[in-house]
Amino acid sequence: MPCIAHLDVDAFYASVEVGRRPELRGLPVIVSGSGPRAVVTTASYEARAFGVGSAMPTSRARRLCPQAVLVPPDFAAYRAASAQVMQLVRGQVDAVEVVGLDEAYLDLDGLVAPRAAMRRLVAQIHARTGLTASVGIGPNRLVAKIASDAEKPRGFVVLSREEACARFAAASPGLVPGVGPKTVARLAAMGIATLAALGDADEEVLCARFGANHGRDLRARGQLRGSATVSAVRIAVSESRERTFDVDVADGSEQEAILRRLAGELCERLARQQRRGRTVAIKVRLGDFTTVTRARTLPTATNEPRVVADVAAALLRAYAPARPVRLLGVRVAAFAGAADAAPAVDQLALPL
Ligand SMILES: [Mg+2]
Repeated sequence: MPCIAHLDVDAFYASVEVGRRPELRGLPVIVSGSGPRAVVTTASYEARAFGVGSAMPTSRARRLCPQAVLVPPDFAAYRAASAQVMQLVRGQVDAVEVVGLDEAYLDLDGLVAPRAAMRRLVAQIHARTGLTASVGIGPNRLVAKIASDAEKPRGFVVLSREEACARFAAASPGLVPGVGPKTVARLAAMGIATLAALGDADEEVLCARFGANHGRDLRARGQLRGSATVSAVRIAVSESRERTFDVDVADGSEQEAILRRLAGELCERLARQQRRGRTVAIKVRLGDFTTVTRARTLPTATNEPRVVADVAAALLRAYAPARPVRLLGVRVAAFAGAADAAPAVDQLALPL
């Protein structure tokens, strides 16, 4: 029997913000852009208690919860946190399919004690990043996904397919991934308003209404039958070198010298692999753990130490760290050329 887990960080963006601004802990926090048409990206659970939810217009969220703290999104910080979480995930499980900054499917087949391994992983993520995550475990992706969502935050739900069908029998078919609002409305018009009703529906009737493939697929989803495949294709989309200092470095020219040295080491490795990248990025962590990344994309791919070092140094000078620095890093991404089958670079998965 396959064993799939779905791991999902709780209120991810809001939790990252609270993590680096402890004064926000316990407060309703809303991560949102600004402007009259802004929508809520993520709300902390404290804000959700007021009825605030993702994708809601921010103006409405403010009316529901006037005392909420509004924070603009900082995607560089979320990517950094995501990279840290996914690195921990990959430390425990070989087959990992990252499906978003804060979500992944894990193939637990072959683990001796999958539940214990997942408990350990969740504890480790919390200890290292301060983030909490919810986990669902089941025989396929649908059950795992629904299970991870069922008891958020800090959920840990293990269900067989039969148990999941029983538990969510009365839920809307829209609970199942892949059954969107339009389909839900069409099903409702046919008198099919629950997951149980969809699973029990006459396949011929569904096929007549939705077409043969979609109809059969819908009924299978209603019975929570789904894929148990985790595509763990791992493409190294970037290479990086970074260094944490025992004592924070305040001097700008010393920072630059370190960055140039890291760029040299990185390019040596790239040259050995015959890889060249178009994007050069730096990572700077200040003494107070503020972490920023700055990147520049070049017209042509390179692994020239001089070019990478110059770009990195220019990015550092432009950022001009306001405080002494505890970590510096250089990254090259967006590879091109013979050594790569030129996969589309998934920007979200870019671990920087
Ligand atoms: Mg999440």
